[in-house]
Amino acid sequence: MHLLYLDDAGSAANPSEQYLVLGGLSVFEAQAHWITQQLDRLAEDINPGDPHSVEFHASEVFSRRTQPWKRLSRDEARGTIKSVLAVLANARETARAFACVVHKASFPNQDPMEIAFEDLCSRFDRYLQRLRASGDKQRGLVILDKSAHETTLQRMAVGFRTLGTRWGVIRLLADTPLFVDSRASRVIQLADHVAYAVFRRYESGDTQYLDRIGHKFDSEDGVVHGLAHKEIGNPHCTCIACLSRRSGDKR
Ligand SMILES: [Zn+2]
Repeated sequence: MHLLYLDDAGSAANPSEQYLVLGGLSVFEAQAHWITQQLDRLAEDINPGDPHSVEFHASEVFSRRTQPWKRLSRDEARGTIKSVLAVLANARETARAFACVVHKASFPNQDPMEIAFEDLCSRFDRYLQRLRASGDKQRGLVILDKSAHETTLQRMAVGFRTLGTRWGVIRLLADTPLFVDSRASRVIQLADHVAYAVFRRYESGDTQYLDRIGHKFDSEDGVVHGLAHKEIGNPHCTCIACLSRRSGDKR
C-alpha cells in the first residue's frame, strides 16, 4: 500500500499570512519503518537521554522558543530542519513529496484547506493510476495529523465517501483518511517539514528548505504534478510548480 502522510503549515484564519499549505509525502508501506529509524537516529543526536521525547515540528525548531530547540543556535536549528528533510531527499524513489499551496486572498469565499485537500486527493489518485498503468496495483491511504486544522479536515474525512465520489478519487483508496498523533509518528513529523519547507518558499521567499526536496515531488515528463500553486493573477510565477507547467504547455 502507498501511504500519503499530510500535515498543514500556515493557518486559514491568520490574516497576517497570505498562504496556506497542505503537504507531505507518499511512501510505500515498508518505507515508513526506514524513515522512522532515520529520524529516531537524528532524535538521539538532539537528546541522547530520551530520544523518544523529541518531536520534530519544523515551526518550533525554527523559532527556538521551546526545549530542546531553545539551546540551538540559529544555524543549528536550520540545520536540524534540513537534516529531517534530507531523510526524504535520500529515500528511495517510492517516497514522493506532495503539496498544495493556496493563496488565501485568491479564493475569498472558499475554505483554503478544503481546496488543498481536494487537490491533493486528486494528485495522489492520479499518481496511483500512473503506478497502476506501469504494473503496480497497490492501493493508497491518506494519513493526516490529528491536530492539523481539526474541524475542516475531520469533517471532510467523515464525509469522505461522498466527497471522494464527487471528486472521482475513491477507486484507488483503501479506506477513508486516518488521523494519527504527530508525537507518535515520525513520518507525520517529516510531512510537517515538507509542508513547512513549501510554506517558507511562498510566504517568505525563503527557498533553502524547498530546494532540498524539490526533486522529490511527483513529476512526469518534466511537469511537477506533486506540487500545486493556486493563486489567481500571477501568470509569470517562477516557482517549480508553475514553471514546469508553462514549459509543459510549450511542448
Ligand atoms: Zn507558482
